[in-house]
Amino acid sequence: MALRIYNTLTRNKRDLEPLAPPRVGMYVCGVTVYDYCHIGHARAYVAFDIVARYLRYRGLDLTYVRNFTDIDDKIINRARERGQEPAVVAQQFIDEFYRDMEALNVAPADIEPRVTEHIPDIIALVERLIAKEHGYVVDAAPVPDGSAPAGRDVYFSVRSFEPYGRLSGRDIEEMQSGARVDVDERKRDPLDFALWKAAKPGEPWWDSPWGRGRPGWHIECSVMSMKYLGHTLDIHGGGKDLVFPHHENEIAQSEAATGQPFARLWMHNGFVNVNDEKMSKSLGNFFTIRDVTARFDPEAVRYFLLTTHYRSPLNFTDGQVEEAENRVAYIYETLARVESFLAQTAPAGDGEEFEKVFARGDEPYRPRHEFEQALDDDFNTPRALGLLSELLRLANLLLDGKEQEQIGRKLKPPLRARLLAEWQNLFAPMQTVLGLGARPPAEFLDQLRLRRCCRREIDPAWVEQRLAERAAAKHAKDYTLADQIRAELAAAGVEVRDAREKTIWRVC
Ligand SMILES: [Zn+2]
Repeated sequence: MALRIYNTLTRNKRDLEPLAPPRVGMYVCGVTVYDYCHIGHARAYVAFDIVARYLRYRGLDLTYVRNFTDIDDKIINRARERGQEPAVVAQQFIDEFYRDMEALNVAPADIEPRVTEHIPDIIALVERLIAKEHGYVVDAAPVPDGSAPAGRDVYFSVRSFEPYGRLSGRDIEEMQSGARVDVDERKRDPLDFALWKAAKPGEPWWDSPWGRGRPGWHIECSVMSMKYLGHTLDIHGGGKDLVFPHHENEIAQSEAATGQPFARLWMHNGFVNVNDEKMSKSLGNFFTIRDVTARFDPEAVRYFLLTTHYRSPLNFTDGQVEEAENRVAYIYETLARVESFLAQTAPAGDGEEFEKVFARGDEPYRPRHEFEQALDDDFNTPRALGLLSELLRLANLLLDGKEQEQIGRKLKPPLRARLLAEWQNLFAPMQTVLGLGARPPAEFLDQLRLRRCCRREIDPAWVEQRLAERAAAKHAKDYTLADQIRAELAAAGVEVRDAREKTIWRVC
């Protein structure tokens, strides 16, 4: 079955048909590195991380390119505020980006080009656009201090590219009436955008045929995507906010230069709201990834992001991230239990398969198939997570010896072990695609316990002490006292479970 992806350009789901299968080239717009990443970034890069992981799971040979915008007005302003070089600011936030992505288990892209390392390529493309009369050179705007400008500006002539507006579904005449407010007399058309900008005093610059200057924002993505993936990309992605003007301009630059289609599929992830309001700095509901992962396990944030389809608006609430944290804990608890069950019970049985045991009537239970169906349908992660939950429930039925509830008969422990081993084989590839449950379970559960103790103001040492007293009471056969302590802990939010050799506790 084909993998179907919603294409912003055609406004419907299309089969992924790579130009040169099994090779797939995907370019995703990266961050401008002047500040910490926020939840909107987390959403975009987790969404495309799933795309990358699933394409590889499907046996496709993916080259994933994600850039860093390491020169830009915002970086220059931040550098000025701090009295640092723009390159220092950029490097700092590239490092911070990696830290956040690692926490969210977002794998690096295969190629991560930076604008400042591609200036000659950018100049070459701008020259080509000028030669083809899609670009034109104008005098730079006057410098405020009256000194001579360091170079000239180059603009892209939007009127020279007939399909302009197709991706965003905008009509060029309508756009123009909206753009009249800010008329720059030097431009042929108010919609024309900068390909190259003359350097202002104190700004970083590079020598070019138009004097000292630096690239406009949009040109970098045309240059870096085509350099590494060829003139036609299989997939181009980014946040919905980039459709216009950024991606519209990328198409114009690239197709005007090469005369070939730029991207076959355009994927865009939806916005993030916070408590049903648009996330914005002015509303004070603006969260960086760092803010959120200080309060919740990063994997809970990842899980939470996957609970909504990547194209739908996502509503961020603490309650929902906390719920996601419970789901992740359930994954790790189950993995730990399966591991310990298999360490104690050798699998044996008559060769019955998991699919047959958990058959649905005459139909075998085929979770792997259902998982692939979900992700083949435009990466439907909420449905994939539903399947994961169902598998976790079945594992716990086996672990609890309650399989009778599901299949109407009781199995012997060696057969349960066999099915659990089978379960592991089913579950592991799904985990890998979703990027969940990759840490050692004990490590995750210990960290979560401490995090929750801190959140609920419970002293772990107090819990340990009460548990020791409860063990002593049980040893002395004072079951009333033991039950009292258990109830006291429960009232504080501590759940106690007596396993075979030791007592396990967790904070609910
Ligand atoms: Zn871009």
